[in-house]
Parts: sequence; C-alpha cells; structure tokens
Amino acid sequence: MKAIRGAITVDKDNPEQIKQAVNELLSTIILKNSLKPEQITCIIFSSTYDLRSFYPAKAAREAGFSKCALFSSAEPKIKGALRKCIRVLILTEAIENDKSAVNVYLRKASVLRKDLTQILNIALDGPAGSGKSTVAKIIAEKLDILYLDTGAMYRACALKCLKERIDINNEESVNNVINNLDLQVKYENGVQLTYLDGKDVSEEIRSPNISMQASKVSAYCNVRNKMVCLQRKIAEKTSCILDGRDIGTNVLPKAEFKFYLTAAAEVRAQRRCKDNKERGFNQNYEEILKEIKKRDEQDKNREIAPLKQAEDAFIIDSSDMTVNDVVRQIINKIQEKI
Ligand code: C5P
Repeated sequence: MKAIRGAITVDKDNPEQIKQAVNELLSTIILKNSLKPEQITCIIFSSTYDLRSFYPAKAAREAGFSKCALFSSAEPKIKGALRKCIRVLILTEAIENDKSAVNVYLRKASVLRKDLTQILNIALDGPAGSGKSTVAKIIAEKLDILYLDTGAMYRACALKCLKERIDINNEESVNNVINNLDLQVKYENGVQLTYLDGKDVSEEIRSPNISMQASKVSAYCNVRNKMVCLQRKIAEKTSCILDGRDIGTNVLPKAEFKFYLTAAAEVRAQRRCKDNKERGFNQNYEEILKEIKKRDEQDKNREIAPLKQAEDAFIIDSSDMTVNDVVRQIINKIQEKI
C-alpha cells in the first residue's frame, strides 16, 4: 500500500472551480506517479471551512473515479491556515517499480510541505563510527527520502582495485582501474545496494580491510571526481540524505541542511567493535581504535576534499547521546526551517 498526498487551492468557492481543481490535482498525481486509475483503492479529501459549495469526492466521481472509495470531510476554521484549500490522500495498491510516492502541491498549496515538494538535500558528514549511517537511515525513512551512503562508493573502488590486484599506493594504476569502473547504486525496498561489474557487493565492501583501502583510494583526485559526479547526479534528481566526509563542503556546498556528526574516538571504536562482531568480523577493540585513528588522520589530512565540518554545518557530538537523541535533534533542526 502506498500513500500519496496532495493539495490545491481555488480562488472562489464555486462548484466549477472545485471540480476543475479536483480534476487537475488528481490527474497530476496520476501522471507524476505513473499510476493507472484502477490501482487506486481510495481517495480521501478534506477541504477548508471556506469551501462549502461542492464535495470534492463528488467532483472526483464526476471526473471518472467511480471504482474506488471516495470520502470528503470539512476541516475546522484554523487561524493562519491556507484559505480555500482542498487536501487529498490517495491510497494505492501498487506503483510501478515501487518508486517512492510523488506528492503534489499545486497553486498556493505549493507553500505547504516544502519538504515533500521540493528536492531536499541533507548533508551528514563526520568521521568513521560517528553513527552517520544508522542516523541517516532512520531520517531517510522518517522523511520518506533516499539515503545515499557515499562511503559505499569509495569502498567499491577499493574492492575493484583489490580484485584487479593492483598496488593501491600507485595512483596511476588506481586511475586506470577507476576509468573503467562499472559501479551502480541501486535501491531495493529503500535499501541501498552497491553493484560492481554487475555483482552485488554490498556485504563484501564492509570488511575492515576494505575500510582502510577505501580511505587510501578516496584521496586520489580521479577517484573523487568520478564519485562526486555520481553523487551529485543522484542528489539533483531526488530528495536525499547523503552521508560522507565532504558532502557539505564539496559535493553539495549549497545543501539546505548540513550536519557534522562526531564522537570521541574511543566511543566510535566501541561502536565499530559491536558492528563488526554482528557482521562476523573478528577484530579486537585496540585494533579497531588504532584503525579509526589512522583513518581519521588520512581522511582529515588528505589534499582533496578532506574531512572537515562545513562552516554552516550544525555540529553534534554523539559521544553521550543515543541514536534517538541524535535523530530527534536533526529532525527538529530541519523542521525549524521548513
Ligand atoms: O563512511 P565509510 O566508512 O563507509 O567510508 C569509507 C572511506 O571512504 C572513508 O574512510 C573515507 O576515506 C572515504 N569517504 C570519502 N568521502 C566520502 C565518503 C567516504 O572520502 N564522502
């Protein structure tokens, strides 16, 4: 089941305008979501108190939506609310390719729910183990936007180099490999999958060895240019939260929302230790702490797009915070602005 939302305003409370607006709203939703009318299970309308001349549900039935359940209700008079507005919630059985719902806000209603109608980019940067991916996944689900794990891309580059058995310290050899890289990011039920040469490598790229090698290859200009280009392409088409090291400073310097998530190295090592155990990688705490510190140093001191907080980023130190605390803080910050 999918839920699609929308709204539209009219200038005057008369049946003709209401019928026309309902028609426009429903046909735009159908078009933007590649829906067939028979996939719609029900359409629920509400209209503001100042629209009394016609039921939107009746307008929908007259416009040909007679096979699904239709319902209209009147909203109370609320101070400061948008005037002469019809809101809709459509429930559908299926949407082609299971794409996320495209919500439609037309005319004066376009000021409502900017988070749903405009492309929303959230940059979440920070060092390894700061909790970025856990937090980003929850936020993406809450806001119904995409989560792009940019680290996975650098990990895939490293894996490719290892598979080709080239010396990762040799920039030229790495460049040659990356020039012919077949890397794809796909989504299945909202989960990011990383494909290398047509094969799903999402689990393989999580090993501690790949973490270290990814940090090395990500310092090379050619590698970064290629990955950043891919990341920008995804972000310009879709609302998403990207986690990485240089999202706010380099990939999307104009992102509306920037966060820098950090934590003490010891806390991050403990978290990684737990993650690694769950993934079946046996590495002790001391070893992980050493690696985390090394990666921090590599990522912070490289020449191109080093790890650093953007000047306009909101900094969160999660050392003594739970995941829920961090999520709440980020969501509150976003909601303050939209
Ligand atoms: O975030 P994750 O640990 O998966 O990233 C692996 C490595 O990829 C990082 O240590 C970093 O060197 C590199 N990376 C990067 N820029 C990004 C994301 C990751 O340089 N935007």
